[in-house]
Amino acid sequence: MTRRVAILGGGISGLVAAYRLVSASHTEPVEVVLYEADQRLGGIIQSDLSQGLVLEGGPDSFLKRKPEALELVRELGLGDQIMGTNPHTHGAYIFHRGHFHDIPPGVRAGIPTRLNALWTTELLALGEKVRLWGDLVLPPRPILDDLSLGSLLRYRFGDGYVDRIAAPILAGIYAGDIDRLSLRVTAPQLLDYQSRGISLIREAQRALKAQPSKGSSGGGMFVSLTSGIESLVTRLAKIISEAATVHLGEPVIRVTGGRGGYMVHSDGRTLEVTDVVAALPAFQAARVLTFLDESTKKILTDIPYADLAVVGAVYDESAMGRELSATGFVVPRGEGIDMTAGTWIRAKWDYPDRADLVPIRAFFGRADQPDLLKDSDNEILAKFRREMGYVMGVTEAPRFARVFRIPQGMPQYLVGHQEAMRHLRNAQAAIPGLKMIGAYWDGVGVSDCIRHANKAASELLTDWSGSPNQAALPRSR
Ligand SMILES: Cc1cc2nc3c(=O)[nH]c(=O)nc-3n(C[C@H](O)[C@H](O)[C@H](O)COP(=O)(O)OP(=O)(O)OC[C@H]3O[C@@H](n4cnc5c(N)ncnc54)[C@H](O)[C@@H]3O)c2cc1C
Repeated sequence: MTRRVAILGGGISGLVAAYRLVSASHTEPVEVVLYEADQRLGGIIQSDLSQGLVLEGGPDSFLKRKPEALELVRELGLGDQIMGTNPHTHGAYIFHRGHFHDIPPGVRAGIPTRLNALWTTELLALGEKVRLWGDLVLPPRPILDDLSLGSLLRYRFGDGYVDRIAAPILAGIYAGDIDRLSLRVTAPQLLDYQSRGISLIREAQRALKAQPSKGSSGGGMFVSLTSGIESLVTRLAKIISEAATVHLGEPVIRVTGGRGGYMVHSDGRTLEVTDVVAALPAFQAARVLTFLDESTKKILTDIPYADLAVVGAVYDESAMGRELSATGFVVPRGEGIDMTAGTWIRAKWDYPDRADLVPIRAFFGRADQPDLLKDSDNEILAKFRREMGYVMGVTEAPRFARVFRIPQGMPQYLVGHQEAMRHLRNAQAAIPGLKMIGAYWDGVGVSDCIRHANKAASELLTDWSGSPNQAALPRSR
């Protein structure tokens, strides 16, 4: 009795689901067929090694606190590639009115924990600094179900602090507008703080004291891979392609069926399968899974995605006008430039890189900037060079520069997201043999995607072993 599973999408979510299923194929008779619209696997994960150093087009790090990515890296035998952040560099800057300013010490996940340290920052006017003390006395904000992260922070700390310090730091994770992002999903700890005391500052201080010291957790919060995050994709792809069928450059157009079997229609072929793992962006899942009911499709299509572009560039050391003494910078809205952040790669990571070259990556795109990718690569590069001149005083052309275009790359967890996901979970549970996974559910990080894919594969395997009526299919290869 063989199960045949179609995996739709070959980003990290689809690859991990495929890997888990082919790994189980010695105990469970399972045939895996993976469809990827692009000519390459990995989705958003992409590392350019062409210049003899690592330029990441997508993720450049794994958060140590979420272990799934590192566990997978070790499981796949890539543990020797794990690399920490550069121990000699700390912190990042906020670029405001033509200058870099230190992020005030003690700001943790957007919450100030050392009010005195904010007293000296030039990022805030005197009145904005005084307003921060409001947090110590204002009553808790009533929250019925959910509200935006921005509205709670604005209420407690005022607009100046939010616009110039909290928002650029927090928005970096979701490329989002914090005045629309769900508090319940993106910062559930703040709901917890609110329920325990009046002041977010005091509760954040308490949480910080309760954390183990940096020494015992082994240094920085992030790690990367010396030969690029894409080496994880390459290793997964090798294992999968030995045991499964992989169709590259073959978008799935629609999937029909829904009860006791599915037909997968892709460009040029139709395949009958017993199970479907849709590891697609939400709007694609809504389009392709034709059997979903209209309210489920609407939830999926209502999840907005931000268009992004990352520029990876390599400069000669001599072109740099300044010492790169932090990991990079973030740019608040309203500074007159489109760049939202920059990473000084050599300062952030401990790569065994060439010392005479300075690799940099710059981010463009926010949730409310729909026209970003109408520009050609050349136009984006011209903007990058102009803004590098303004921000860093670099006027020389880079030796190498590349634009990674990421259309609809980052799902936005808007207010009410948790409720929407509850609906999706219920809808999915009523459709046997269907798993929908990906960054739009429970976390955008690579580890979140891996955790979700692990869970989906393990649930399918459990369902099959408990299922009295397994479908028998002829082997297709
Ligand atoms: C610029 C950027 C930086 C990031 N940095 C970090 C970081 O440092 N750390 C971190 O943990 N996370 C980071 N993330 C988040 C993380 O990289 C992503 O959330 C994750 O890689 C998403 O993986 P996925 O497989 O769910 O989706 P995707 O990578 O989007 O994969 C979906 C795949 O489906 C394919 N597809 C679409 N339609 C079809 C179809 N009809 N048929 C077949 N295939 C189809 C697509 O081509 C794509 O390959 C970052 C994201 C971005 C955009």
